[in-house]
Amino acid sequence: MCTSVAAAAQEWGQVSTPTAGPPQSIGFYTAGCLQGAQALPLDGPGYEVIRISRNRYWGQPVTLDFIKTLSEKVRAAGQAPLYIGDIGQPRGGPAISGHASHQTGLDADIWFERQPGPPLAPAERENPRLRSLVRAADDGIDDGVFTQQHVALLRLAAEMPHLDRIFVNKWIKQRLCQTVTGNRAWLNKIVVWVGHDEHFHIRLHCPPGNPQCQPQAGYYADDGCGEPLDIWFTRPPVKLPPPDAPQAPYRPKLPAACAAVLKAP
Ligand SMILES: [Zn+2]
Repeated sequence: MCTSVAAAAQEWGQVSTPTAGPPQSIGFYTAGCLQGAQALPLDGPGYEVIRISRNRYWGQPVTLDFIKTLSEKVRAAGQAPLYIGDIGQPRGGPAISGHASHQTGLDADIWFERQPGPPLAPAERENPRLRSLVRAADDGIDDGVFTQQHVALLRLAAEMPHLDRIFVNKWIKQRLCQTVTGNRAWLNKIVVWVGHDEHFHIRLHCPPGNPQCQPQAGYYADDGCGEPLDIWFTRPPVKLPPPDAPQAPYRPKLPAACAAVLKAP
């Protein structure tokens, strides 16, 4: 039977519960699924989950632990709580809206915006202010929004165990390349991608004991501040489509084992 891609993504989005069984990431970050997902508690020390109605706060235990540990470090550093956005759907898989990745429970979006003080009420978390660190004309960093706290946050995340890479906008990477002094080894983990100016995206390595999880090759040989950054300003390998352009459907071919994850009770 042939189903359309949009229908397939809708199916994954319509399943509101995880499967039982041990957590297993199956496939690749952009074409896979997740067995035995766990939910990130909606509030914790140093973070709060936003856009709760999307039901995308499911992931691998290693991802949830990463978020909790990073949030505690952020709190210990005296910074305001993090807004945690999408991790994954209860069974991973492709989503009808948003991103191509986040399919195996090992990706998560963390917003640059923060709000000091008590956590927002759940209704206020659906559409909070989420400012970009990049100017609207896409011609540089917005220094009215960007602060050294963002640099400290990215460094904390980049130096944690289990992290594969962090995606940020080219302007953010450029600013780090131009300003970070001392130990710059962590810049190796900060990878340029389109968007990612309002949030950064953490991607974790395949956890041990997940034989069907497909790892991703390393990205930069060094700090990534030379040619691999310049290319984004001269001949960008990827461009964001105009907001009103018709979106070509994303057609990942999922591993066969994901069919059982989708169908499981
Ligand atoms: Zn993301």
